[in-house]
Amino acid sequence: MSQEPLNIQIPSNLLPADGRFASGPSKVRPEAIADFADMANGYMGTSHRKPGVKDIVGRLRSGMTDLFGLPDGWEVIMGNGGTTLFWDAATFGLIEQQSQHLSFGEFSGKFASAVSKVPFLNDPQIITSDYGSHPVCEAEASVDTYCLTHNETTTGVTMPLVRPAGAADGALVAVDATSAAGAVAWDPSQVDCYYFAPQKVLASDGGLWFALCSPAALERIERIAASDRWIPAGLSLQTAVNNSLKNQTYNTPALASIYLTLHQVQWINTNGGMDFAAERSKAMSDHVYSWAEASDVATPFVTDPAMRSQVVVTVDFDDSVKADDIAAALRANGILDTEGYRKLGRNQLRIACFPAIELSDMQALTTSIDHVVEQLR
Ligand SMILES: *Cc1c(COP(=O)(O)O)cnc(C)c1O
Repeated sequence: MSQEPLNIQIPSNLLPADGRFASGPSKVRPEAIADFADMANGYMGTSHRKPGVKDIVGRLRSGMTDLFGLPDGWEVIMGNGGTTLFWDAATFGLIEQQSQHLSFGEFSGKFASAVSKVPFLNDPQIITSDYGSHPVCEAEASVDTYCLTHNETTTGVTMPLVRPAGAADGALVAVDATSAAGAVAWDPSQVDCYYFAPQKVLASDGGLWFALCSPAALERIERIAASDRWIPAGLSLQTAVNNSLKNQTYNTPALASIYLTLHQVQWINTNGGMDFAAERSKAMSDHVYSWAEASDVATPFVTDPAMRSQVVVTVDFDDSVKADDIAAALRANGILDTEGYRKLGRNQLRIACFPAIELSDMQALTTSIDHVVEQLR
């Protein structure tokens, strides 16, 4: 007999200890919140241009250099406004004349469409693929910036980061890594600008952007800044570089977000670095994919196993059950944010497998979903 979603009670012994499975803002580790509460009174409400805060920013920048294994000459640049603002900054200060975009979901598509409207750039090349897959770059002499997305959060697709063979000398590879950075390994020799916001893998809060920049990217930023292109001060990457090298931001940042980001970077680094974080995410996503493959109602949305994300898993359900009803029943039981990405329009759940989440909670989640599905059908 089928039940109303909101009347379904999941037995408490099946429930995860922590019900946060959002793809962003994502679960912040309780240990980080507790440590933040301990240190906050000497830190919050103090000047971001004085040693107390600048020291934390410096530790964060060097912690990221370690976590990502950045070669000599790379710099960790940061600013305010999150990834979306970084796209606008990149249209002013990173793309020289023409970019090429791989567009395979809402986020990669947004950057491409932002660039399409810029009056002083040539029309971008946009290569698309069906949602649930990713396209590949096609080297073109006219392209000076290749714009990739490490993990398309809206569809659960990850792509390998490879410099396009035959790209023009000096062409840059810029990667939106917002939901991958810190849990998916990559090779800095294939990338020039790896940018992200810290409210996903890095288990912090929104509002900041970070960009790991190669010497070639830093040169490009400097050259465009010295040209006669008009660049609004708040969107100037060169201004962000100048401030970041002094462990500052151009305008006031969210100090709590900076501290929480540092806490997560240090947690990953002291436990084994990128491999530690990647293995945690992989163990959780392997669990969810195997569960979906074995299920008689669920299937992984991404059909090619090589494109399946290890940080954000998308699962389709058959017609016998509505994914929205499952998500509503889970929510009523304190399991949050498993809803699919609305604009994909699929009968789908989306589950973050970021390293801050526990494997035991992921196992409890799929058990809870099984329980809910049984009650709904
Ligand atoms: C979340 C996300 C964004 C948007 O980040 P904001 O900080 O909210 O601007 C962009 N790209 C990807 C891949 C994301 O996952």
